[in-house]
Amino acid sequence: MWPVAITLTVDATTAAALAIGAPAALWTHAGALLGAITVRELAELDDRVAVAGEIELVPAAIPAELDTPRAIRAAIAAHGWRRVAGHAPTAVFGRADEHLGKLALATADGLVILRPAEAADRIAPTAARLASAAVVARGYFPAERIELATMPGALVPGAAGALLTALVAKNYGVGQPIVIDDGTGNLCDRFAARDLGLAPLRYAPVAQCPRCDELTSARCCPHAERQPALVDDAVLADPARTAALLRPEVVQLLDRAHPHATAAATWPEPTRGFILWFTGLSGAGKSTLAAAVARALRGAVPLEILDGDEVRAHLSKGLSFSRADRDINVHRIAFVARTLARHGVGVITAAISPYAETRAEVRALAAARGIPFLEVFARAQLASLVARDVKGLYRQALAGELAHFTGVSDPYEPPTAPDVEVVTDVDTIEHCAGAIVAALQSRGLLGALPTTHATLTRADA
Ligand code: ADP
Repeated sequence: MWPVAITLTVDATTAAALAIGAPAALWTHAGALLGAITVRELAELDDRVAVAGEIELVPAAIPAELDTPRAIRAAIAAHGWRRVAGHAPTAVFGRADEHLGKLALATADGLVILRPAEAADRIAPTAARLASAAVVARGYFPAERIELATMPGALVPGAAGALLTALVAKNYGVGQPIVIDDGTGNLCDRFAARDLGLAPLRYAPVAQCPRCDELTSARCCPHAERQPALVDDAVLADPARTAALLRPEVVQLLDRAHPHATAAATWPEPTRGFILWFTGLSGAGKSTLAAAVARALRGAVPLEILDGDEVRAHLSKGLSFSRADRDINVHRIAFVARTLARHGVGVITAAISPYAETRAEVRALAAARGIPFLEVFARAQLASLVARDVKGLYRQALAGELAHFTGVSDPYEPPTAPDVEVVTDVDTIEHCAGAIVAALQSRGLLGALPTTHATLTRADA
């Protein structure tokens, strides 16, 4: 049984580009490739178009921060738990979530906290929300009775959504999902035991009672002062209620993510890191365009440029231009790029990266960690590059004085499907940089761009 229809809808423009029987790529909002759908059916659904068909997953596309059901079931088996409770917190992990988990643990052998990877949480950005469950699990639950997991997607609201969550939790080894009985319906009761083999723990919504000075519920407490234990802006504005509903470690997390969080409450999502990976022959314009893009983005995103020449002078000092050493160099750059991007930095790499297979590897490694990756092909005719000969290297290579020079005495495999292709011996630097910025923007990777165009400074040049 499947309680909620999960549909893929696209706008009319996207739908117009789809054809029955043809494959289409599936991307996350962040621009990571997930897989492909072979379109079988298109149907109108609420002003959008629903797309149906067989889906093929790119195995490497499962973000590393997601836990697989298999891994969590293995952990449960290792603990030797038989009665396994499960709780899926909807937002930042509050004292109410902890309360529910502990109610369950009073009888269950263990508790799985199943955090959804996505949530419409206005008070905590994703990283802080996920971390909040981790700090409470570490500080306030016995380690041998708790497992923490991150599951894909977001919770679906309503009674059918609760049933879906229970079904997903079952895949993670949960036999006793916590279900909040808010009186909206009891699908879980109707289906859980009979059809799903689940024994839900039906708890009343948690409330805070100042008179009892504890978290309780309408089922247990007679006082009129009771307030819902949900954490919202009003709670964060009131230090007494904040303390009652959030552990100090969680308050600290919120404050660190935004210094005024507990006073002012709403903050923007942090900027997402990304990797903008240039490839192209020497002199094709990688460094020049990296600098131009960085200039255009100044103020919008924290940025780092990993320039090929600079990397070879430091990080990859001593490496040759053999295929093996070139691959090591590219993987080192990619490793540093991922490490930075994970912390919200936009990373621009400018190295020749001549081998298609190696470029595919570093793209897959980024995708596996959910890091948006855009390949930019800086293209120019060899004749133009020889005429440009910025570093005087083509002259030497053509005279036979330089072995392993890409494009002359060493191979270059041009990308077949780059995310952006710029033709630097036809278009201007401004035009090429604009196309690259537009690609980042269309993937939603840039905040509001600064409106003034900075002029070229000596340092940039
Ligand atoms: P790479 O980093 O790919 O080795 P560089 O950026 O060092 O290449 O050199 C590219 C040269 O080409 C620079 O001198 C730059 O001014 C010139 N150039 C001319 N048109 C363009 C363009 N549209 N994009 C990038 N560079 C261009």
